[in-house]
This record gives sequence, C-alpha cells and structure tokens, in this order.
Amino acid sequence: PNIPLFSNAITYVQQQKGPAIDDIRADKAFSYSELVSATCLLREKLLGNTEDLKEQRVAILCPSGFAYVVAQWAVWAAGGVAVPLCTTHPLPEQLYTIQDSQATLIIGHPVFSDRVNEITKEEGGIPSIIIDDEQLLEWGKAAIVAKTFDMDLERRAMILYTSGTTGKPKGVVTTHKNIDAQASVLVEAWYWSDTDRIHHILPLHHVHGIINALTCPLYIGAIVEMHQKFDANQVWDRWLSSAPPLPKPTREINEETEYDNTTTHIEKHQHTPSRPRLSIFMSVPTVYAKLIKQYQSYPEAERPEYSNACRQFRFQVSGSASLPTHLRDTWRKLSNGQVLLERYGMTEIGMALSQYYPISERVEGTVGFPLKGVEVRLMAESEEGSGVFDKDVTDLRDAPGMVQIKGPNVFKEYWRRPEATEKEFTKDGWFVTGDYGMRTNQQGYFRILGRASVDIIKTGGEKVSALEIEREFLSASLGVHDVAVVGLPDPEWGQRVAAVVVLDDGKSLDLETMRKVMKTRLAVYKVPQLLKIVSELPKNAMGKVTKKALIKLFEDNQ
Ligand code: ATP
Ligand code: MG
Repeated sequence: PNIPLFSNAITYVQQQKGPAIDDIRADKAFSYSELVSATCLLREKLLGNTEDLKEQRVAILCPSGFAYVVAQWAVWAAGGVAVPLCTTHPLPEQLYTIQDSQATLIIGHPVFSDRVNEITKEEGGIPSIIIDDEQLLEWGKAAIVAKTFDMDLERRAMILYTSGTTGKPKGVVTTHKNIDAQASVLVEAWYWSDTDRIHHILPLHHVHGIINALTCPLYIGAIVEMHQKFDANQVWDRWLSSAPPLPKPTREINEETEYDNTTTHIEKHQHTPSRPRLSIFMSVPTVYAKLIKQYQSYPEAERPEYSNACRQFRFQVSGSASLPTHLRDTWRKLSNGQVLLERYGMTEIGMALSQYYPISERVEGTVGFPLKGVEVRLMAESEEGSGVFDKDVTDLRDAPGMVQIKGPNVFKEYWRRPEATEKEFTKDGWFVTGDYGMRTNQQGYFRILGRASVDIIKTGGEKVSALEIEREFLSASLGVHDVAVVGLPDPEWGQRVAAVVVLDDGKSLDLETMRKVMKTRLAVYKVPQLLKIVSELPKNAMGKVTKKALIKLFEDNQ
C-alpha cells in the first residue's frame, strides 16, 4: 500500500492545490507539487544504486521549513528511518542521537554546515548530503509527477527521542502505520481542513512539532507556516500583521485616543509584509507564559490590538506539560476568549487524550477523553506498594491509576532496548505510560496527575501530585512566576515536598509566608517543607522542567 500521507499529497498535486509550506527563513511558499517533486528527486539521490534503504537510519539536521520536510519525506519514500536531530542541541547530544540510532547518513542544510562537519569529524567520516535552497528550488520546479510509493506500512519509519525529562532520552520507533494513526485521529478530532494555516514554531524532533503541527496539516492539504524558532515579540508581530479588523466600538469613542492607537499600529507594521490569516497555533505552557510577559511589556494602549489579533485563530493548543490554571485564565482574558485546548500525549503514543473541540467542553485542569481508536485505562495496585497494577479504576471517580494505552498509535519499540520495551508493556499488550491520572468527579474528564517517577511524591504515607501543588502555587498570588515541586528522599517521611520557585521581578518570598498561604489552599501534608528560590528553572528543548536536576540541586547544597 501507499503511505497515506503521500497518496494524499499526490491528490493535492493533481488538484493543483496551492501552498503546502510557507518557509519563513527561505522567504518562499512551496506548493504540494514542489514538495512531491523535490521528495522524488532527493529520494533518487538517497537511493543511488540501491532500491530500498531497508530501514537504514538517516539523521536530519535541517532548519524548520521546506528543506526539513523534503528530507523527512525522501527518507520515508526511500524506505529509510528518519531520525530528526534537535537543531539547538549541543554537539554531544546530537552525537548521542546519531550513535544511539546508528545513523549511517546525515541530511544537512547549509545553515548547519559547520555542525555537520563537526559531526562528520567525530563520527569517523559518516557521509552527509547537504541540500541547499537553490537545489531545493530546482528540484521543486522539476515538477516530477510522483508514482505511488509502495511501502509495507508495518515498517519502521522514524525514531524520535523522548524529551529526557526523567533520564537519558530513549529512541522511540514508530512505523508508518503508527504515524498515520497519530495524525489522522487529530485531523478528525480538531476538524482540520485544507483552509487551515498553522503557525509552526515548535522544534521538529518531538511529536508535538512533527506530528501534531506538521504532519496533520500536510495530511489534510492545509498550509504550514514554518518559523525557525520561537521569539515572543516576533510571534505577536506576526499575529498582528494578519489581524482581523478591530470590532466596531459599541460606545461613543474618544476620537483622539482611539485614533492614536490605530496610527501606532499602522506605522509599526508598515514594514511587516502582510501574510495570510492564521487559524491554528500549538505550543507548550512555557511559551504561553513568555507570550503573556511580552504582551504585558507593550504599552497599555496597544494591547487591545494584540488581543484582537488572537481572534484569527480557530483554536490554540497547549500540551507536553500540564497547563497551570493561572496561565489558562490569563491567556483567556488577554486573547479575546481563546480557551487553550489541552491534550495529553507522549513520544511513544502520539496523542491519547484530548479535550473536545467545543469550548464549553474544555474543562480546566483536565485533558478530556480518549481520542477515537485509542484505548485508555487507569490501573491501580490492589495491594499498595506491591508494584502490581492489577485493579482497573478507569470507571471510578477521583481514583488515581497508572495511565495505560492501547491502539494503532502506540509505538513499535524502544530502539535497541528490548528489555525496556518489554518492561513498559503489560502481558495483555497495554503500554504503561508511567503517568498517573484519574477521572474527575463530575463528568469523568481525565486529569493527569504526573509522572510516577518524579511528580508523584510519597510523603508520610500519602501520595501527592506535584502538578496539583504547582497549580496552587501559581494561582496563590505569591509573586511566583514559575515553580517546580519535587520530592526529596527523607528517612522519616519517605519523601519531603520541596518547591523551587522563580519569583516575579521585585518580589520576595520566605518559607514561612509560603507555608502560611499554601496551608489555606492545600492539605497540610501537601504544603512544601522546603523552599528554594532560583532565577530560572532548568528546562529541556521542549520547555519541560528537568526535575532530576532540581533534586540534585538540593543534594549538592546539603
Ligand atoms: P522522558 O521519557 O525522556 O523522561 P518525557 O516523558 O518528558 O521524557 P515526552 O515523550 O516528550 O518525554 O513527554 C511525554 C510526557 O509529557 C508525558 O508522559 C507526560 O508526563 C507529559 N505530558 C504531556 N502532555 C501533558 C499534559 N497535557 N499534562 C500533563 N503532562 C503532560
Ligand atoms: Mg517519557
């Protein structure tokens, strides 16, 4: 059979559909025809005299844009396994990915040619193919009409590395079938259509950026506007450049002030080339926090225009980490009522749970319900501490259990880690996510409580969700800008709850005040016993706090 993503693209070529990728760095929009054509020609180049790459791993080091997508598609079309590298990682981490995946070839772009050279030197001359913008333009123009790409869909297609939040990143192998399941289910759940244009600012080496934000639009024939990296000011600027007209004021306007605002706006954006309207944005909580900070730095009189710019979006997504309540509320207020759509997933499974599309269904602190075709169950230990999760609590309310998943979206294996793969699947074939979850009291929405390894703190015989405490911290007007709650080993308590906070500019906080306030919001055993103030939390490329590093911080200081 054909890879569905490709057969769709071939149809879009036949329909002469317009842009597929608006590449901001290259300053050019590429059509589906150019995408398919360039894919075919790079595929030939990759194959050389062979017929099939036979699941050979090909590392990709290209900037977000047309080059990246062509590289990935060509590897797939040639029967290889795509291994996208994190473009912002330092050399040793990229080398780890290359070595662990046993990649035998790199596809690079001139933007990263120095780095490709370094890798080649370190890796004893691993061959590389550099695709530059000119070459890509030429390939695109060749207008090669693709044949079908006949492919066993059970074959390995991609290795993505987990974020490394809890340890060394693990290589997650997905097949073409897995990728198809992961993308198509979201296309349906979030009503993607070919009129959508997504503003893509996410890194491409994780499912969020590569499946949700890239593969979905290309699957349905929409447009991906690809930006190389996230910059809060640029994002607002971009949104403003395609903002719908400000709604007509309902009251008598004060000519002077209102008119002045409009002038500033026009002057400021005269230089911004106007781009078509956006309809979708996806990101992680940290990015929304940065966007809020940026928004607040704008003169008060201009803010309504930025708020108004948010009206162009059909929906905006938050995921990859838990969305704090205050972020959600602040965003809703400043964005003209955008209620961030939260979903839960991981490298191994793509997305599993998502809030429903209608805004009224997007319940705070929950991640909705299982996506179509994805089975989700919550398993508890019938004997506390036994490590045997044999009690199905999925249909109960307020009963925490380990989240387990089954479905065509679930990955094939951890690359070259058969024991790890075996360990993470139950005998009856469920993937054990390592996250705890529960159903809420009322409508049974799923709530994520956090990772068993770092977010579930066992203190004095009680199980505490770090995510819940973090939420309260941020809502408590303690002047806390960012927070991570961790469990520290303790002979008396088992673990002690500790908080590491970043304060808002000019604020101060001591342990006593913190405890006093938090006691009004949380059961006493949940209130952190230790407090550390830092200027920044350690986060990985996906914007997630690396809690193991934080725990070490306490150890080092003792
Ligand atoms: P590693 O597996 O290397 O430790 P990681 O688990 O962070 O890193 P990913 O696969 O990128 O790697 O992230 C998946 C994890 O992110 C989930 O297991 C879950 O803990 C967390 N997560 C994702 N979405 C949400 C969400 N909406 N709410 C809370 N947590 C989430
Ligand atoms: Mg994980």
